[in-house]
Amino acid sequence: MNETPSVAQYILWYVLSYALIAGAAYLATTRFLTRFFADRRLRGAADPTQIRAEIARSTVAILVYVGMTFLTAFLYFRGHTRIYAVVAEYGWFWYAASFFVFVALHDTYFYWTHRWMHLPGILRRFHGAHHASVDPTPFTAHSFHFVEAVIQATFFVAVAVLVPFHWSAFLLLYAYSTAVNVYGHVGYDVLGRHRDCGPLAYFNHPSSHAWHHAHGEGNYGLYFNLWDRAMGTYRGHLDQ
Ligand SMILES: [Zn+2]
Ligand SMILES: [Zn+2]
Repeated sequence: MNETPSVAQYILWYVLSYALIAGAAYLATTRFLTRFFADRRLRGAADPTQIRAEIARSTVAILVYVGMTFLTAFLYFRGHTRIYAVVAEYGWFWYAASFFVFVALHDTYFYWTHRWMHLPGILRRFHGAHHASVDPTPFTAHSFHFVEAVIQATFFVAVAVLVPFHWSAFLLLYAYSTAVNVYGHVGYDVLGRHRDCGPLAYFNHPSSHAWHHAHGEGNYGLYFNLWDRAMGTYRGHLDQ
């Protein structure tokens, strides 16, 4: 806990966490838990040609994240980041609170950059690659144009420079954001009628992001729909 991992270990974490989370979601929905998911599919059957294109685009996005890791490491060794190694430096309270701060910042960054990327010229040139998947699959999560991958990766460099994060919190938060992203694209209404129970109503679900992919607008948030509700862009769920 008291020593930061090597750059190679960071990169391994980024690549493996995405591959394992997206791979597990794909296998769970199509191979292992098919009885559970059978009547929860939001659209038609997953298209193998689309999945191959998504994996190709995701590979480019992951390479951008690798580049981001080198940049973050470069800044870290020159003392320009606020990543720290010893928990006691900021204490366990901040360690826990940093998760909420990260999610609030990331949701805000994602909402506004995502909305910006829906401006017609930007959508056509960059974000359209992500929307090539009208019917999302777990591999749509990182299926980005190179420029969009840079925009998404920039957030991680920016928070490393601006906000103190313990290195382990930073890695866990990356994996968590990836899991949330994959969940949104899984293509199945995982929670069914429970999706609107209590606080779950304010979380983004596969049915709300499937609406975004089906209609090409609205529901721009990543973790929550709070920004969408506040800005009048909340569109609810796509139902089977
Ligand atoms: Zn979009
Ligand atoms: Zn999407």
